[in-house]
Amino acid sequence: MKDISNGTTIYWMRRDLRLHDNHALYQALKAGMPVVPIFIFDRNILDELPQNDTRATFIHDTLSQIKNELSQHGSDLKVYYGDPLSIYKDIISKYNVKSIYTNTDYEPYALARDHSVRDLIEQSGGSFHDFKDHVIYERQEILSNSDKPYTVFTPYKKKWLARLEEYGLEQYPSEKHLDQLAQVDSETMISLEQMNFTRSTITIPSSTVNQGTIKNYDKTRNFPGLEHSTSKLGIHFRFGTISIREKALKAKSLNDTYLSELIWRDFYSQILSNFPHVVDGAFRAKYDTIEWRTNESDLQAWKDGVTGYPMVDAGMRELNTTGYMHNRVRMITASFLTKHLLINWRMGEAYFAEKLLDFDLASNNGGWQWASGSGTDAAPYFRIFNPASQLQKFDKELVYIKKWIPEYGTDAYPAPIVDHKFARERCLDTYKAALA
Ligand code: FAD
Repeated sequence: MKDISNGTTIYWMRRDLRLHDNHALYQALKAGMPVVPIFIFDRNILDELPQNDTRATFIHDTLSQIKNELSQHGSDLKVYYGDPLSIYKDIISKYNVKSIYTNTDYEPYALARDHSVRDLIEQSGGSFHDFKDHVIYERQEILSNSDKPYTVFTPYKKKWLARLEEYGLEQYPSEKHLDQLAQVDSETMISLEQMNFTRSTITIPSSTVNQGTIKNYDKTRNFPGLEHSTSKLGIHFRFGTISIREKALKAKSLNDTYLSELIWRDFYSQILSNFPHVVDGAFRAKYDTIEWRTNESDLQAWKDGVTGYPMVDAGMRELNTTGYMHNRVRMITASFLTKHLLINWRMGEAYFAEKLLDFDLASNNGGWQWASGSGTDAAPYFRIFNPASQLQKFDKELVYIKKWIPEYGTDAYPAPIVDHKFARERCLDTYKAALA
């Protein structure tokens, strides 16, 4: 246990909400100064969210648990609410802060924010240290033989696997060094209500998964009606309540297909880092010239799950009710919005961002650009999912459909808002005209 009068290291927790196998925390604890962990509820992000945002509740509950764990070590997590730069100005002027340790967040807003915080601490004679923790391989760690970032998944995956095989993964057992934490009094954390949030009633999927789910993943993963079809760990990867290193090593021993999905996650992260223009437009610029339809009622029908296409409607209702949607169904609903309804994928991307518990800019953007055909390694535009045959293939017994659409098969269920054949032709003509 350490006294902070001679100076302190701040460990800044963000999307790494755990005390074990945490890279920045480990490095901070090993650096020798007493460590004060902090978390900032960043108003630049929070003020955009709806009042009952489930992710805000999840973060708040997780921080409570972390504060409890830290109090058992005579320490605490200091929780702030506001603009990070202003908060740091205050902290640095009050305490003898020698350095800030944190894990890298690769999103553009976070990078700019961290840049300002780095400048600030350096101006006061301190230092800023950031570490890779959120992914296995970041930015330009996996490059092609001509030293270029990959834009196609299969060769990227091959290199990724070869590197893992050759070098393995470092472990950062931060949990073994918690005696380096500063001795600080426990403080009560700001409440959800004080931040203008109400408690969400949506249940968060568990952070532990039955080994059988991972072992059988390649056989079950395409069937949304199965109870343990996929791991539902998305929110935990997103907020770092589990360690990607631990899960990737486990996946390597249990199921190659599951490991492959974790590689997709790294793939999209490096796409965001190396091609940041994807945040504002299509990866392939030509696709920005597509003449999208503006049709509020079609968009609303899609959001509400009343398009008359059961696979689409079940997916959207699952999303609206639980904050989760099965991957197969994400592909179908995204394809339907962009191709059948010819509505700009940015609308769908924004709706998923608002609703998904596991929303992650890199993967969401990658998924939407894939579905609309504009992305890296995307489905060719002329390959248009047929929602009826997807249903036949992946929910033949209608288990998923009946779970989310109780009125399915009755007069209460709406007729299709658009004819499949007509929509398909319209899509092909419009894409062709733009890409010619
Ligand atoms: P599992 O199938 O159990 O997979 C395990 C983990 O691997 C996931 O939790 C996720 O971290 C990663 N993963 C799996 N598939 C992918 C993929 N295709 N791309 C990147 N990572 C993957 N994933 C997100 O994490 N956040 C998003 O905002 C997001 N938006 C998407 C939007 C669209 C239109 C599409 C088609 C896909 C999107 N995905 C997103 C990818 C994928 O659908 C989810 O990661 C997955 O459904 C989450 O469920 P799970 O945890 O049960 O995944």
